[in-house]
Amino acid sequence: MAKGSDASPLRVAVIGGGIGGLTAALSLRQAGFEVDVYEQAPELTQIGGGINMGPNAARILRRLGLAAGLDREGVRPLFTHQRRWDDGRTLQQAPLNPLCEELYGAPHITIHRADLLAVIAAGFPAERVHLGYRLAGLENEGGGAAAWFENGARITADVLVGADGIHSVVRAALFGEEAPRFAGCVAYRGLVPVERIADLALDTGNQSWVGPGAHLVHYPVSRGHLLNFVGWTEHDTWNREDWTDRATVERALAAFEGWHPQVRRIIAATDTCFIWALFDRDPLQHWSVGRTTLLGDACHPMYPFMGQGAAQAIEDGATLAACLGAIGDPAAALQLYERLRLPRVTRLQDMSRANKIRFHMRDGPAQEARDAEWGRAADRSPDALRWLYEFDAGMVEPAAPPQ
Ligand SMILES: Cc1cc2nc3c(=O)[nH]c(=O)nc-3n(C[C@H](O)[C@H](O)[C@H](O)COP(=O)(O)OP(=O)(O)OC[C@H]3O[C@@H](n4cnc5c(N)ncnc54)[C@H](O)[C@@H]3O)c2cc1C
Repeated sequence: MAKGSDASPLRVAVIGGGIGGLTAALSLRQAGFEVDVYEQAPELTQIGGGINMGPNAARILRRLGLAAGLDREGVRPLFTHQRRWDDGRTLQQAPLNPLCEELYGAPHITIHRADLLAVIAAGFPAERVHLGYRLAGLENEGGGAAAWFENGARITADVLVGADGIHSVVRAALFGEEAPRFAGCVAYRGLVPVERIADLALDTGNQSWVGPGAHLVHYPVSRGHLLNFVGWTEHDTWNREDWTDRATVERALAAFEGWHPQVRRIIAATDTCFIWALFDRDPLQHWSVGRTTLLGDACHPMYPFMGQGAAQAIEDGATLAACLGAIGDPAAALQLYERLRLPRVTRLQDMSRANKIRFHMRDGPAQEARDAEWGRAADRSPDALRWLYEFDAGMVEPAAPPQ
């Protein structure tokens, strides 16, 4: 195991207390390291609705001792169902639970973001989460890293982990400033109390509707009390990045004009609709410099069209802790960590980008070929995603080639 300079436990500073940063902090603490989290916000919050979490991530969180919280707050969707935008025809459907648990030892879960963050935070000592610490700069020093914050505080650590999201200050300090690109998509999202749409008689499942230039996903969260929906539409330009921006329900309905009555009924049933623009970065070649590395959206933001952004941040933490636990030299452990993680997240970044095209096809020969392909073999089924769901990011064998 990697040790600090005087053979005491390695001191790790995690910048960012989002889903990725807190999971990494918990994984590292349980591996025996001394961990502190520095979060810019005055309290731990997650803005937004739901997270669709595959068994690859649920397994890691359960191993961290969070099973009871996940079972309490999460929902286990019975199936995933992909449908056509106008007539609602089924394009593919596959069972999710209990099949995922049978095949991969962990369920597929849908959960509200705030609930997920609270479940993870409950496993980590609150006094080691430093709120109101907005990172301003950092430098690698011989045996570690130093960081300073806008509140005037300065810290040192043996290892520094940038889990500070798509606008990462750590990433900019290591690899230079580069603004993220608008990905040509915005999301309308909302939460609907399920009793308002009881007449739709929705089963506990995950449905997505695909159509020309848009798609909409909905699934239950908040112990089944709320239905989360996210409807993506294509746009040429965008000038705001804040996904708390308000959109009107009318505007969302206009974006899904002509879509199936179920889609429009769900949108119309929300009290508040938010709009969020999708931004993107090219994959990095490296994540680590000396004793500093990156994790989650800070190094591999991805379109949410494989539902794997948070899951991959969760996996990062498990692999990082395993690498630092397996190798004595922290800088070498960080190199191994990025070598193990890069091919897998790059593959998912590419697949998520490709799904933007596949989900948004105009009706015509290409769409018909896609529908026929999905009809032959459901590519969202737990069987088809074996390579993704079976993978255990906490199992590190330095010599094994990553998937
Ligand atoms: C609409 C939508 C739907 C999605 N659906 C899914 C899904 O179904 N499944 C899935 O797995 N993923 C999904 N994702 C992706 C997922 O939300 C992200 O990949 C994930 O939240 C990234 O986590 P993170 O911890 O790396 O970054 P973030 O969640 O962005 O957390 C970064 C943290 O760092 C803090 N921070 C930032 N700058 C500083 C600083 N300078 N100093 C200190 N702290 C700082 C922030 O306040 C924040 O708390 C979705 C994304 C969107 C937008």
